Amino acid sequence: MRYRFLVPMFIVAVLVLTGVLGCVQKQEMVLVVGTSADFPPFEYKDPQTGEIVGFDIELIKLIAKKIGYDKVEIKDMDFDSLIPALDAGQIDVAIAGITITDKRKQQVDFSIPYWSADQAVVIRKGSGITINDVKDLYGLNIGVQSGTTGAIYVEEHVGENATIKEYPTYIEALQALITGQIDAIVVDTPVAQRFTQQYDVEIAHVFETGEQYGIAVKKGNTDLLNKINDALQQIMNSEDWNKLIEKYFGSSSS
Ligand code: GLN
Repeated sequence: MRYRFLVPMFIVAVLVLTGVLGCVQKQEMVLVVGTSADFPPFEYKDPQTGEIVGFDIELIKLIAKKIGYDKVEIKDMDFDSLIPALDAGQIDVAIAGITITDKRKQQVDFSIPYWSADQAVVIRKGSGITINDVKDLYGLNIGVQSGTTGAIYVEEHVGENATIKEYPTYIEALQALITGQIDAIVVDTPVAQRFTQQYDVEIAHVFETGEQYGIAVKKGNTDLLNKINDALQQIMNSEDWNKLIEKYFGSSSS
């Protein structure tokens, strides 16, 4: 009787199908995120656990969740490696307090802006350096992080008139300042403010550069960019945004 086999065959078919579907379902959607974890409070290593945390990290996790990703994988690298890593497809997005500039817009695509910053000159407390103008930087040893808008600002406005030292990370530049190897560092204002709260340093001057931060994706990855923009806009209009600001900046203004 041929029909005797129908029921077992049906059961086998169902088992195979659920097995296949089960495997498909188990495949996690992972968003691979590049950052440079030396830029508190946006991204930094938790001193206790070593885990990469910060405003940007939580923001990208909220965005990923809204888009439908199961998980976010964070890859830490030097700031000037982020754009090449996007280009090479090693990361899907880069978030690291990245200023949207015309030059970078030729290399990657940016989300809508989510934060603003200027450039601050940070000095050791009590070092007696007065800065009112770029010319006051002349003759100093100035530390910056390679490839940043701070580095570009100093190169363009001070150039040969000072000794500019480039560091792979802002933490190394800060260490050099604290230990007296250099006189000043030029860094984004929100990060400079955080440094003054944690170390014996102060802000000597602010150059108003009017920068805006964006999340970067590989040039032409419009599908992901649109999703990021939608999610980012929704988050910025929600209570989550104020909570995030409160947590990392201790107030609800940007
Ligand atoms: N906002 C600055 C830039 O884009 C610095 C960013 C950083 O050092 N993480 O160059």
